Amino acid sequence: MRQLNKHNHAETCPYCEGTGYFQLLLGGSETCDQCKGNGENHQTKS
Ligand SMILES: [Zn+2]
Repeated sequence: MRQLNKHNHAETCPYCEGTGYFQLLLGGSETCDQCKGNGENHQTKS
């Protein structure tokens, strides 16, 4: 199967902008709770 969708994955998480985590000022990172770290927005839109 071949799909030519430019955006072939779920919507990008608006919280972490698709990175899946937040960069902390103190160093390190924290997994984005909104997308569970996969960078995708799983919120259902009607
Ligand atoms: Zn996220």
